[in-house]
Amino acid sequence: MFTLIELPYAPEALEPVISAKTLGFHHGKHLQGYVNNLNAALPGSPFEGLPLEEIVQKASGGVFNNAGQILNHNLYFTQFKGIPDQVGDDSKGAAPKGALAAQIAKQFGSFEAFQTEFVAKGAGLFGSGWVWLQADAAGELSIAQYAGADNPVAHGFKPLLTFDVWEHAYYLDYQNRRPDHLKALWQIVDWSVVEGRYGE
Ligand code: MN
Repeated sequence: MFTLIELPYAPEALEPVISAKTLGFHHGKHLQGYVNNLNAALPGSPFEGLPLEEIVQKASGGVFNNAGQILNHNLYFTQFKGIPDQVGDDSKGAAPKGALAAQIAKQFGSFEAFQTEFVAKGAGLFGSGWVWLQADAAGELSIAQYAGADNPVAHGFKPLLTFDVWEHAYYLDYQNRRPDHLKALWQIVDWSVVEGRYGE
């Protein structure tokens, strides 16, 4: 049985980037729905009792979609922190440090160039899906677009950072303005979490 993750911040902590109302639906309704669907599908299936990442690597169809969405949202919701806790310029958010910062600079030229490409790929993803910063086994980074519930884990990459571009992630706050939502998300990224994923 999988359970709904607890958010590591208060419902209003991410405002105005993500409203408490959006968070309530996104976490409490959408993610809860994926958890309920997967728990209903697992008994008697070959995937019963497996860890979530293994289900994502092996399953297809509805089991893959619900397991993938749980994995994606767990990574998504735990990579944010409230704006008052951020270090540095609140309008831009923080920046990564250490090995991840060095690798971003090496491959993308600068953190700003990386951000521009990441937002462009999120904005340009047709329909519902996720834009990711992922790493291969050698630590090489790439920005990837995955449709629906698909994700780096299903393709042998390590997931580092993700922005959800399903309309349920932003429509209450930003309506059709997906690029504006994606740009605003930089203000709440907790880079210490992303750095930890890179170093794991
Ligand atoms: Mn979502």
